[in-house]
Amino acid sequence: MLNVDLHCHSNVSDGVLSPAALAARAKANGVDVWALTDHDELDGLSQAREAAAELDLHFVAGVEISITWANKTIHIVGLGIDENNPDLREGLMSVRGGRESRGRDIAAQLEAVGIPGAFEGALKLADNPELLGRTHFARYLVEAGVRPTVTEVFKSFLVEGKPGFVPHRWATLEQSVRWIRSAGGRAVIAHPGRYGFDDLQLNVFVEQFRALGGEGIEVVTGSHHPAQYDEYAAYARKTGLLASRGSDFHGPTESRFDLGSLPPLPPGLTPVWHDWAL
Ligand code: AMP
Ligand code: MN
Ligand code: MN
Ligand code: MN
Repeated sequence: MLNVDLHCHSNVSDGVLSPAALAARAKANGVDVWALTDHDELDGLSQAREAAAELDLHFVAGVEISITWANKTIHIVGLGIDENNPDLREGLMSVRGGRESRGRDIAAQLEAVGIPGAFEGALKLADNPELLGRTHFARYLVEAGVRPTVTEVFKSFLVEGKPGFVPHRWATLEQSVRWIRSAGGRAVIAHPGRYGFDDLQLNVFVEQFRALGGEGIEVVTGSHHPAQYDEYAAYARKTGLLASRGSDFHGPTESRFDLGSLPPLPPGLTPVWHDWAL
């Protein structure tokens, strides 16, 4: 059975490793088919593709787009995209746009609870300043000794109702699916178990997603608890959505699952890669 990992992050967004280092790690971990899916950014894809080619690792160009739907932040993964597509490129540029001022607002909230210097501190940890995000703030708070780990930071900071949470308007669902499709890619709902949807909301969301041409859903992801693998496998079988698998790896010391280390997709699903030339 192929080891397919279609979700991870490099230092071009909020991952720790370079695209080339991720390719090497995927290969070493036995991954056969690998996608890089940085948040709202395509700049790591050419380095990733070259590194994968040298390693004889099948590469899939990807992206993870931040959207706002019903006042929730949702992530849509695009797989098999052409990163030179102008619709996708311009769309993502606009999505990246508000991150700096949001970062200043996050820092102001942290300063108000006695943590100064977070904007500069987080920015220094962001290899791509255009992608300054909550993960960089979380790493800064670890560095500053506020909490021992990034996971602990996200329990007390940067999330709704806690200091350092700044609501943000990302792309729309319609834009994200349209950009992915115009770039020749396949749209996949990332880690559906993380949004706090009830059954009705999930159904409404999926119905809109499919009406726009969205096709897939992540079932086995490092962002799900194991019980959610079965829950979303059942959902994919029921709805006929294509099933995806990806570690959502961000870095060796931060992620619960390394590249290629998740269990396989449960049986009875149509994988998102079912019609790819592998
Ligand atoms: P942003 O796009 O700047 O809002 O940052 C979102 C990123 O924060 C996600 O892609 C994750 O990498 C990280 N993140 C969000 N919630 C958590 C959490 N509870 N634990 C660890 N990382 C998280
Ligand atoms: Mn992330
Ligand atoms: Mn995500
Ligand atoms: Mn991700």
